[in-house]
Amino acid sequence: MNHALKNIDHPFVDIGHAGVTVRLGTKWLDLFGDGVRTVELWECSLAHEGACRSEGNSEHRCTYHGVGKLLGVWFGALRNLPVELLSIEHEPKSRTRVGLRQSLWRAYGADAGHDQVMATAIIYTRMS
Ligand SMILES: [Zn+2]
Repeated sequence: MNHALKNIDHPFVDIGHAGVTVRLGTKWLDLFGDGVRTVELWECSLAHEGACRSEGNSEHRCTYHGVGKLLGVWFGALRNLPVELLSIEHEPKSRTRVGLRQSLWRAYGADAGHDQVMATAIIYTRMS
């Protein structure tokens, strides 16, 4: 099974660079926490379950960006996210705590960005 890391409507870090994606809850920890080494990088026009697809209407068309090598997965309260990980968040606007909270509010709703929420940070290097 191929593991896919999906970004909604914005691209990944440049090839050869390391990046971090912060997601709320344990879903991504469960997907990537154990033994996964590479992930497909997909940019999706909207959130969806199941496999990405590059064909189809514009409502559900995903763009394949290449392969990422998984470096690690961090899990903990959002306020404890290490600054070293925050500083390589793949979205430049989210490289400060305030910016990351705003981004999580946008993605998950108003309750999402609090310091106490449990978050998963997926750390990868983009290989292609
Ligand atoms: Zn997709």
